[in-house]
Amino acid sequence: MVNRSNSPSIQLTDLAKSFGSVSAVDGVDLTIAEGEFFSMLGPSGSGKTTVLRMIAGFEQPTRGTVSLAGQDVTGLPPFARDVNTVFQDYALFPHMSIAENVEYGLRVKRVPKAERRTRVGEALETVRLSSHGDRRPHQLSGGQRQRVALARALINRPTVLLLDEPLGALDLKLRREMQIELKAIQREVGITFVFVTHDQEEALTLSDRIAIFNDGRILQVATPRELYETPNSAFVAGFVGTSNLLTGAAARSVVGRDGTFSIRPEKIHLDDVPDGAATTAGVIREVVYLGSANHFVVDLDVPDGPDNPENRGNPTSLTVLRQNTATAGTALGRGERVRLSWLPENVIELASTLSTAPSAITEESA
Ligand code: ATP
Repeated sequence: MVNRSNSPSIQLTDLAKSFGSVSAVDGVDLTIAEGEFFSMLGPSGSGKTTVLRMIAGFEQPTRGTVSLAGQDVTGLPPFARDVNTVFQDYALFPHMSIAENVEYGLRVKRVPKAERRTRVGEALETVRLSSHGDRRPHQLSGGQRQRVALARALINRPTVLLLDEPLGALDLKLRREMQIELKAIQREVGITFVFVTHDQEEALTLSDRIAIFNDGRILQVATPRELYETPNSAFVAGFVGTSNLLTGAAARSVVGRDGTFSIRPEKIHLDDVPDGAATTAGVIREVVYLGSANHFVVDLDVPDGPDNPENRGNPTSLTVLRQNTATAGTALGRGERVRLSWLPENVIELASTLSTAPSAITEESA
């Protein structure tokens, strides 16, 4: 059933939107392939929802075009576009049964009764709620209600489904379960999903590709692995995972030259020194117990530390992730001196400077 041709499902060209003096989206170019699970990830206010609303037709761009399956739909109203949207607040009709909620869109389109019944049955089966058709929305859990919303959007058989933080109202455990379900459903129906989230883990779990947004622009479009392993800027490195940025005197001291660099926490060793590894030393400032692993924040032996004007505002510490295996050695505590080592190929050189690193946002989104 899955049709993964490479013809673009969605094409955005120089898309921009201003609300009065606020530039919400500022020149977005993007091509999304048919059948892709595509996520738009970025901090609050970066323009993700506005882009989604322009694809749906709820918002008219100030500049640029939206094409769906090769057709320019920029001026068309939402109902004339082959897309459906699932919002965070599922907005189910409380007085209708689940089956009636799912059927509603077909009734509006005056689809004959027999066909309506067949399609409702199929849609409920897709979201694994076949036995719940007679219930009312208040008799379902949050995750089940979200699946009804999904069935209601899928029943019109759109070629593109737009999802705006659809799992945002669910608790963490349910959210994780629904992520797996959502991915399975998308594979099964084979249509293009465009998913908006500010949760980096969710985007990495679900997506074929991800666009990273900041200030109304896209900074990088790549697969989850590429974003993590080869971020193109300090911002992306900081938004997807813990960045461990090194610049200024810290870069010279640790990496041996000028520039902005990142080393992922799990690539740094605390006990063993692998062959060919580079090393540095520091003092453990913080230990964060994570169950299966520990996070160590290590203050580096950077010349003059925070007193060096070059280090002001720049990090002079590295976070190290160490699994709590039986072989992880003796427990390390605050104040202890440690040696850090890593393989040179695990140092990522970044193009932009620290001024764009979203340290506060990273913590919020972690
Ligand atoms: P969030 O994750 O918080 O939903 P977002 O990345 O989806 O954020 P948008 O909702 O697209 O961001 O908003 C982008 C910018 O445009 C923000 O500064 C927002 O305040 C502004 N904005 C969005 N909609 C409107 C509107 N209808 N009127 C005025 N400003 C708006």
